[in-house]
Amino acid sequence: MSNFMNKTKILQELSDFIAIESVSTDPNRFGQIINAVELLAKKLKALNFEVRIIKVDKVPPLIVAFRPAQGKPEKTIAVYAHYDVQPEDPIERWKTPPFKLVVNNGKILGRGIADDKGHLFQNIVAVEELINDVGTGRDLSLQNNIIFIFEGEEETGSSHLEEMILKAKETLAKADVFYITDVGMHEKNIPQIFYGLRGIIYFELEVETGEKDLHSGVYGNRVLNPILLLSELLSKIKSSETGKINIPHFYDDVRTSSQQEIELLEKVARTESQEKKETGTYKLVTVDEKHPHLSTKTYPSFDPHGIWSGFTEQGLKTVIPNKAAAKFSFRLVENQEPEKIEKLVKQFIKDNLPEDVKFSLKNLGKDAPFYTDIENPYIEKTAQVFKEVFNHETLINRSGGSISAAEILQRIFKKPVVLTGFTLPGDNIHSPNENFDEEMFWKGIEALKKIYSA
Ligand SMILES: [Zn+2]
Repeated sequence: MSNFMNKTKILQELSDFIAIESVSTDPNRFGQIINAVELLAKKLKALNFEVRIIKVDKVPPLIVAFRPAQGKPEKTIAVYAHYDVQPEDPIERWKTPPFKLVVNNGKILGRGIADDKGHLFQNIVAVEELINDVGTGRDLSLQNNIIFIFEGEEETGSSHLEEMILKAKETLAKADVFYITDVGMHEKNIPQIFYGLRGIIYFELEVETGEKDLHSGVYGNRVLNPILLLSELLSKIKSSETGKINIPHFYDDVRTSSQQEIELLEKVARTESQEKKETGTYKLVTVDEKHPHLSTKTYPSFDPHGIWSGFTEQGLKTVIPNKAAAKFSFRLVENQEPEKIEKLVKQFIKDNLPEDVKFSLKNLGKDAPFYTDIENPYIEKTAQVFKEVFNHETLINRSGGSISAAEILQRIFKKPVVLTGFTLPGDNIHSPNENFDEEMFWKGIEALKKIYSA
């Protein structure tokens, strides 16, 4: 396997890519975002891609690159990955410099290596290797058109992705299938494909009871306290006892899982002790007594993320504040529409706050849930390739997280979407010491070569 790949050269190029601090959330590093785009565009042009750099406003550009097959193409394979990364802090917890690629003990380390620069680069290398026709001795020359979609705004919520994708609609409509390489394997050498992701809708709510803060000795009992109102309201949305969300009609569009789906997900279930260890939590809860592990996969959820008001400094101050605010979000499952949920939430707040209390509800972002039919030839084909490369059957899974690209590409182009990747659970994405298992990195390239050339 991969005996002919020039690993030193590949790692050198990857190291140049990792060295670019393409942190999309940091406006001071926008220049580095542009450096990343330029490095990728240059590389892709050298591989005969027609490269389009799509810009809107001042957000990280989207790269859409098309490489026509030499002869008559068999099909068009599109692949999504993202070139932006999370900030490196807390820097003191890194054992190696975050933006320096280091290979140590079978791991490739560096910010973004697992999420998602490693996958992005694997895709490029796979094409390059096929073009150079080196590797396996078999004829693997590229019979398919390839489209790369490289995003730079993933870590900040992909808010312009749909708009930019629509600008490249003509090119992207050629795709017969979309691969999204931004998730990982179940365990080392155990590949998996995801068929579902939860959606999300994120809010900021402010409750206001009056014009100013008041003295609790003078006015206690005579005025409402917004901290109490807000905390009562949040507890009304979801009870910690049942785990159920109590907003009327919230569950109307949620479908029940089929027996087949439950059995499929049984295979990827983690034990309670694994989950306890992984989370470090003192108490695990569930919304499905029979299948506790499905709680984070096939059920919507609600979580407040922050709450602020009043006096939180040292010492004491007997204030009745006039305002309290919170940020919270709902994770949504298939068939729930974020716009519909937004209306229900707004109505619920209105109905559950006393008359004459003011509130403002802001939507800070949303993503529809993603769900795809697993009975499609591309998933079967991919599973077959994985079996050859990893010598293990492919698990079929779904995740509680959200990736905008999956839902957007599927909704606009109505083609199969295959969500997969080669990183491992201990890869520390978004954390210090982010890493990619070296063996999985090279095997992943082998797998992509087979997918591209099949
Ligand atoms: Zn990612």
